[in-house]
Amino acid sequence: MELPGEYYHVVKAGENPYRISQNYGLSSKDFFAWNGKSSWDEFSIHPGDKLVIKNPASHEAPVVVKEEPQQSAPAPSQPAPAEEPVVVSKTYKVKKGDTLYSISKAHGVTVEDLKTRNNLTSNSIFVGQTLYIVGTPSASPGASVTLSDLEGTQMIRDDLFTPVQGRVTSEFGLRRGRPHKGIDIAAKSGTPIYAVLDGVVVFSGVQRGYGNVIVIEHPDFVMTVYAHNDRNLVALGDEVKKGQQIAEVGNTGKSTGPHLHFEYRIKGQAINPRKVLKL
Ligand SMILES: [Zn+2]
Repeated sequence: MELPGEYYHVVKAGENPYRISQNYGLSSKDFFAWNGKSSWDEFSIHPGDKLVIKNPASHEAPVVVKEEPQQSAPAPSQPAPAEEPVVVSKTYKVKKGDTLYSISKAHGVTVEDLKTRNNLTSNSIFVGQTLYIVGTPSASPGASVTLSDLEGTQMIRDDLFTPVQGRVTSEFGLRRGRPHKGIDIAAKSGTPIYAVLDGVVVFSGVQRGYGNVIVIEHPDFVMTVYAHNDRNLVALGDEVKKGQQIAEVGNTGKSTGPHLHFEYRIKGQAINPRKVLKL
């Protein structure tokens, strides 16, 4: 059945589904379900296509909505766009005694599949070797997200420009029981904030909690967030270069002193900025 216009986003040239879902603040889970997809790879969109951006159940039968318990979560102190972790690949590190056969059996795949996926020409593997169970190895940093990319503080790339000169005052991770999805770097008000990579500004404005905030989209599904700014110097749609000044440090939003709150997201999943920045 056809839904009213407000339920759709009409695709424009240059847009991608990930960015569209982010702009509407949708979780990937909802966005996939409403559009009948189960991964980003299944979207093939063209200008003029319509994507569902509002729960169709809310139109078809309001009664149905009633049956689903509506979660009324308390407002988070650091509101961030809700995102489901998206694991687009899964890897396995070879242990002593493993064979391609034992690994394939344990993960419900075939030996042939493992070999093709990992470009293996023989059955020999070595301890410590990383094998892709889901997804394929990629030469481009950030293009493929593995669990090890998301966890820990081990560097996964080192080509970022330092976003601000200052002192780290709060780390990524749980803070008073709530996730802190970025890292806080204190600096005097007015200190320049720089884009860490080339990209396109996909948000520049005010968000509750974040104050003046800029979100930049970069290649390989990477996004960076710069919050609590005194002043934003770039606008939606601006192309920015790595190292270009984009804002000035401030104390806007929910902030207790001038600092930059910086986030690094891969396919919507915030990772510890220490994995990409030497601070
Ligand atoms: Zn912060």
